[in-house]
Amino acid sequence: MNFEQFSFDARIKAGIKAAGYVTPTPIQAKAIPIVLQGHDLLGLAQTGTGKTAAFLLPILQRLIRGPLRQVRVLIITPTRELAEQIYQASLDFSRKTKIRSTTVYGGVSKRPQEAALHRGVEIVVACPGRLLDLMGDGSINLSQIEVLVLDEADRMCDMGFLPDIRRIIKQLPTKRQTLFFSATMPNDIRKLADTILNDPVTVQIGRIAPAQTVSHALFPVPKTLRKKLLLALLQRTATGRVLVFTRTKRRAHTLALDLAKRGYRVIALQGNMRQSRRQQAIDGYRNGKYDILVATDIAARGIDVTEISHVINFDIPDTVDAYTHRIGRTGRAEQTGEAFTFAMPDDADMVRDIEKTLKTNLERRRLPDFDYGDFNPETQFQSKSPQSKQKQNAPKATRGSGHKRPYRGGSKRKPYRRFKN
Ligand code: AMP
Repeated sequence: MNFEQFSFDARIKAGIKAAGYVTPTPIQAKAIPIVLQGHDLLGLAQTGTGKTAAFLLPILQRLIRGPLRQVRVLIITPTRELAEQIYQASLDFSRKTKIRSTTVYGGVSKRPQEAALHRGVEIVVACPGRLLDLMGDGSINLSQIEVLVLDEADRMCDMGFLPDIRRIIKQLPTKRQTLFFSATMPNDIRKLADTILNDPVTVQIGRIAPAQTVSHALFPVPKTLRKKLLLALLQRTATGRVLVFTRTKRRAHTLALDLAKRGYRVIALQGNMRQSRRQQAIDGYRNGKYDILVATDIAARGIDVTEISHVINFDIPDTVDAYTHRIGRTGRAEQTGEAFTFAMPDDADMVRDIEKTLKTNLERRRLPDFDYGDFNPETQFQSKSPQSKQKQNAPKATRGSGHKRPYRGGSKRKPYRRFKN
């Protein structure tokens, strides 16, 4: 199967080719024909599945015909980073067409956004707050919207955007195509989908579970030793790009400083940073200036960086959903990755929830020759499920070719010790 079968306009095909896409991902194969036929869509898919192209490509096909320089497509996303990512993809795919896009989000000056809208665009990728602001000012005309996309609807709900979303949708033409994407379907989201979708076709990609290409491991560790363990792991593990998650902005900041002092090429990404600094951090991480990004959940939402070899949960996430989203950053587009989760004795309930919901066992590991002091990692988080026996095989090679920098640790690298349950 390839992209030829969709009969896209030659100018869009050129964009697909330039992006290096040859084979559609499962969500693209399923969703593109549905969107091309004009149906509403309920897409149950997590990040990393290729959902951006699944909605953008058929949208561009529609926009090739019809009036130019009026807003015909509105894409609403929870974060600026995700908005930027969709905008970039839109630029890449539409480069041979006359279609124009712009972003609308807060934290940056309004003026360039108003100027872009004034010049005329067909696609607006927006976060709810600034969009409402511009709607209030009369700087954006949404009366000609033909397609509305809500991306990561569950995240928007988590971030408290549902009332804003409802206000925005009230002002859109009712005759339109609506594409609704969410990784999970809690009740509020189900209700919203029911009210705004018209006879939708549902496309579900996999269960709501992390990509299969990721191997998961749990490192029991006391709080006081986490930083040392992180340093030891970074030294001994063959890593490519590493994404470290912390629960708080402050910890992201201080941990990044600590790692930088030790010579790592590292940057933080957290909500207290100005938008321009955040973008610099993401760009630097994407283009290889930094090997390690230390981020909070919200800040890392939607960053589109391929070739992340390791996601390290310095703090265990608060919800299973957050775990899935974090882990979705690695193993993207068929690459393999490893997810390491540091867990303290207090985290036992969360560990159990993750394992139960994802129907997977996080393999317990201890780092050999690491001084755990009085703490015995092997007595923590004993798994009762028989599934836990499945993953007792040899350490998985982390990455093949494509490393941006040589392995740290080289011959010092040691296998992890697996627990015997
Ligand atoms: P998304 O889920 O849209 O964020 O996409 C995840 C990653 O997969 C992005 O880096 C995309 O550029 C990449 N990707 C999406 N579709 C394809 C495809 N058909 N072939 C290769 N890479 C893809």
